[in-house]
Amino acid sequence: MSRPATGDRTLVIRNGTMIDGSGRAPTPNDALVVEGNRIRSVGRLPESVRLDGSRTDVDVIDASGQWIMPGLIDAHTHLSYGYPQLRGEGRGRGTTRPELGVLKAAWSAQKVLRSGVTSISVPGGTWFTDVGVRDAIKLGVLEGPRVYCAGRMIITYGSIEDDEPSWVGTPEHSVGVLCNSAAEMVTEVRRQCKHGVNFVKMADSRSGDVQTLAKEEIAAVVDEAHRRGARVAIHSRGGASTRTAAEAGVDWIIHADLATEADLDAVARAGVAILPTMTFLAMVVEAGGRFGQDMIQMDVGRMKRHLDGLIRVVESARARGIRILCGTDTGNNTFMPFGELHAKELEILVTYCGFTPLEAIVAATGGNAFAVGLEGDVGVLEAGKLADIIILKRDPLADIRVLQGGHELAWVIKDGKVTNLGDHAREPRPIAFSVT
Ligand SMILES: [Zn+2]
Repeated sequence: MSRPATGDRTLVIRNGTMIDGSGRAPTPNDALVVEGNRIRSVGRLPESVRLDGSRTDVDVIDASGQWIMPGLIDAHTHLSYGYPQLRGEGRGRGTTRPELGVLKAAWSAQKVLRSGVTSISVPGGTWFTDVGVRDAIKLGVLEGPRVYCAGRMIITYGSIEDDEPSWVGTPEHSVGVLCNSAAEMVTEVRRQCKHGVNFVKMADSRSGDVQTLAKEEIAAVVDEAHRRGARVAIHSRGGASTRTAAEAGVDWIIHADLATEADLDAVARAGVAILPTMTFLAMVVEAGGRFGQDMIQMDVGRMKRHLDGLIRVVESARARGIRILCGTDTGNNTFMPFGELHAKELEILVTYCGFTPLEAIVAATGGNAFAVGLEGDVGVLEAGKLADIIILKRDPLADIRVLQGGHELAWVIKDGKVTNLGDHAREPRPIAFSVT
């Protein structure tokens, strides 16, 4: 096997079983041909691509006995929460050093890509760190997944991330930004759009016990963001806030765990997607709350109730034809390490929510393209689509867990370029995070 290079060469992946991300059954594939950053063909090797050694601009991967599928998309990853704990320094609730935070985010992004995740949607972070990392990856300054990101979350008093007393508010280093009127929210939307966000993240209360955003406020944000070409997502665990957000026209709702059947009817009528994000809750429950020194969020009993609620919501939402996005909340806490858990949500969908492994893979590939603004352009292995491809040594349909952590990866190809999988880089010193 010749080692594939990068650039505008032709890459041919011979043999292997292809799971194309559209929901079609897996098929043996003769050749997947990549030219530049797009897939030229799948199926039989085209006559014009000769593999007799006469062309020096063709690289070949032999995927015999392996599985070829689209790169994974995690619709919920935070790159810029937290900071390395430095001895002798106080701890704030967010990153207090932007320069260090940016470098850490860039390093984390590389770990994400090396685990087979070729796109991420980032619903909130510090400053415009994620915009910067996104653009650096686009420019080729560093290797990482495609990044589709929001800025700081728009919140009111009592929303999640309003962690300081009112006389402190939300300092520059926090992931929330207080806006206590529709006018303030619109100004913040304009500021964030000026700085290049792909979407605006709003956030209601942490647990959904109270509703902290009014319908007119959400509608004002949606109107302003959409007019400027940005979309809107909202952290909403409550039933009333979920229904309100759907009726106000947001593009997707994150969590929705306390939604009633009537609330889900409203979501279905509005045609809004739900991003349940069960992985974070499952991790808290599985870890038995041993991480939670000071966070009310770490009440394991409460987390279990939220997880059970989400499983019910996913089943009910699917029955109504609501699109279920697939994300993990990686990077929101110390026990959500980059590159490790991005495919755990698929395992949860299969284990608890009645998805087949193939349906879970579609949710995290072709289906999730919506969450990164590339619907119909990425996440499916077809001629003309962006060439984001992973090749696995084990069958993910036989055991969906082989997608986790990148441990069974043979190759990762993003935007037509082969990724250097490197050594399995170790996490640095423990990192403190605030929690969504
Ligand atoms: Zn989150």
